[in-house]
Amino acid sequence: MSLYNKTDKVCNICRKKGELSEDHVPPKGVLFNKVVWMDNFGKQFQKDDEKSRIRFSQSGIRFKTICHKCNNKLHDYDRKLAEFSHSIHNELIKNLSNPQFNEVEIDCYPNAVMRSILGHLLSAKIETDNVVIDKSIRSFIFDDSKSISEKVNVYYWFYPYVNVKIARDFVRMFSDKQFGFNSVIKFPPVGYLITDVPNIRGLENLNDFKSKKPNYKTKIKLMLRPFNQEDWPEGVADNYNPFIAFGKSFCNSLVAKPKK
Ligand SMILES: [Zn+2]
Repeated sequence: MSLYNKTDKVCNICRKKGELSEDHVPPKGVLFNKVVWMDNFGKQFQKDDEKSRIRFSQSGIRFKTICHKCNNKLHDYDRKLAEFSHSIHNELIKNLSNPQFNEVEIDCYPNAVMRSILGHLLSAKIETDNVVIDKSIRSFIFDDSKSISEKVNVYYWFYPYVNVKIARDFVRMFSDKQFGFNSVIKFPPVGYLITDVPNIRGLENLNDFKSKKPNYKTKIKLMLRPFNQEDWPEGVADNYNPFIAFGKSFCNSLVAKPKK
């Protein structure tokens, strides 16, 4: 049984109606505790919600929101994302007792990593909608001859926390009065922010690799200092930059915590 189902059976990537398949977010193969409690933290903004929000899963977070064909097409990108996660993890383990260790440089297929993240971002939504960013991602996601759109920026940072977080479609302000339409997928050891803001100060991004091919390999640097708090940037608190608004999908945002 999938945890999050679409009732209209429309694939979130190709938009065809038919049998949908189960998609793991984050994808299988990344470091992630499979036995989790999940809480739809976005529901607190939905006044009419009376249903229990907490769910339990023994096999990760699964969305039945994309068709088999699209799901299979993501697998190659997913393997490269998993490789990236594992390489960082291995470097961290190797350097546990090294106090000078404050950044890693790892082999990575940055374009494929972006496509994997963006594909699962489309998947992590249980209603059929057509926000601009989804439309844009659909136009290039499986076409390797097309660059990743200039309106779709993928930032990444060290995320040394056990909880997995997925939040879609919220507007918030970054520094310098920048407003962004944003989504996040965070699972250790990296958090990913997908936004239309082209430059967020102090945060590393993969923008230089938008027009590279998915099989392009290079070294990617990751600073080993947590960027802001664990719940940045989707958290709603007084001491943050103003959190402005959210789309209906923000209500399905979730946090998955390992079962103790
Ligand atoms: Zn599809």
